Amino acid sequence: MLKKHIFDRAELDERIALSYNRLLGDYYQMPAVFQEYCADWPGDKEGRALLAFVSHYKITGKINPCMESLMKALPQYTNEHLYFDPKQDPVIHEQQLSGHSWFLRGLCEHYEQFGDEFSLTALKSVTEHLYLPTAGRYKAYPVDRDPKHLNEGGVSGHSATLLDGWNLSTDVGCAFMSIDGLSHVYKITGDKRVKALVDEMIEVYTAIDKVALRAQTHCTLTAARGMLRMYGETQNEWYLNHAKDIFELYTAGGGMDLVYQNLNWWGRPNTWTEPCAIVDSIMVALMLYSATQNEAYRVMATRMYHNGLATAQRPNGGAGTDSVVYLPYGDFPGVTEQYMTGYEAPFCCTMRLCEGLWFISEHTDLLWYATDEDGDGKLIPTHDEHGRYVSGDILLCEPSIDPAVERDSGWKLPEAATVADGHKLLPLIKYYKTPDAVAVALRQKIVF
Ligand SMILES: [Zn+2]
Repeated sequence: MLKKHIFDRAELDERIALSYNRLLGDYYQMPAVFQEYCADWPGDKEGRALLAFVSHYKITGKINPCMESLMKALPQYTNEHLYFDPKQDPVIHEQQLSGHSWFLRGLCEHYEQFGDEFSLTALKSVTEHLYLPTAGRYKAYPVDRDPKHLNEGGVSGHSATLLDGWNLSTDVGCAFMSIDGLSHVYKITGDKRVKALVDEMIEVYTAIDKVALRAQTHCTLTAARGMLRMYGETQNEWYLNHAKDIFELYTAGGGMDLVYQNLNWWGRPNTWTEPCAIVDSIMVALMLYSATQNEAYRVMATRMYHNGLATAQRPNGGAGTDSVVYLPYGDFPGVTEQYMTGYEAPFCCTMRLCEGLWFISEHTDLLWYATDEDGDGKLIPTHDEHGRYVSGDILLCEPSIDPAVERDSGWKLPEAATVADGHKLLPLIKYYKTPDAVAVALRQKIVF
């Protein structure tokens, strides 16, 4: 019998408090919140931090002590046009556009919350001097790449190739992340030139074969959020339909793994997950649900939250990368264990998590979930279409841990919630609720 469970608000509040405290760390305070001059991803950390600070303000009203000092110090770290160097020259720096999309988002959110004249001036200036001069050049975005380069790139990505006037990133497609930042600028300013630029980017990016190009899933989902923002502003279904297509490609076309987490790039299962993309996938799913009332989107969002985001947050409140769980795929042998691959991505996912927590806190009424239970309240496991054990919306796994870690940490593996074919099964254990030593050592086997 399917049983409906309401969203656990207390658990979300715990996650929010941990995240807020993490952002009080020195790495997110002055002066370390600013990157060095001409960083790999100009504007990225500063923008994500500002967006994270405003997101926490929107949830609890608490203001990170760095937020206003960051705003005040901006002109000392940027050029006279209030963007982070390098200056635009004939070459377009893909990672600069991507980073400044987060910067625009932070400024837009700050302006919307506080009505601050300086944030308005800054978001207009960055748009005018960094982005508008690139209008008309997206059709030349290089899609014919050396296959060798399409398998490169670490967690933080890097600028790898100079081609056709573009300085390209290993995070393939990240220039189009800017659909998010620029759509927010359009929402605030109504500037028709910005709409034309966003439309140009959407036209080009939606036509690109993301699987063949091994595009990054995070930037693609972020772009889809921008398309949905444009749909909200214009009611033009062109935007909605492109966002639907991206979500379909993500969930059913090799972007999402079997734990509702993401593959960092299409076509590269031998990588890791990225909480940024998991956050964006939940946001896109619920935005599509709001636009269409199609229950399938709500169900997908709740499964992404309760399974996909379960492990992504760490005991220190930040977020990091996990293994990609998938069945054998092309040349890849398949991975059945969910485990941590990188404790935290402080320069990226820890900050991105904050907007996700805000969005989730705004939609808790939609994130109820169901389990299949017998008369005694015991979970009934069934095999789903992928052969995984599930109970309603909840994935079941068989966790294990090195006995020495269990003994030394004083933490105990929870009792099985149910047993099937000799497997002791549980919902995924949430890392943020465990000691660090346990989170690092846990192995959660998805039984197929
Ligand atoms: Zn990230």
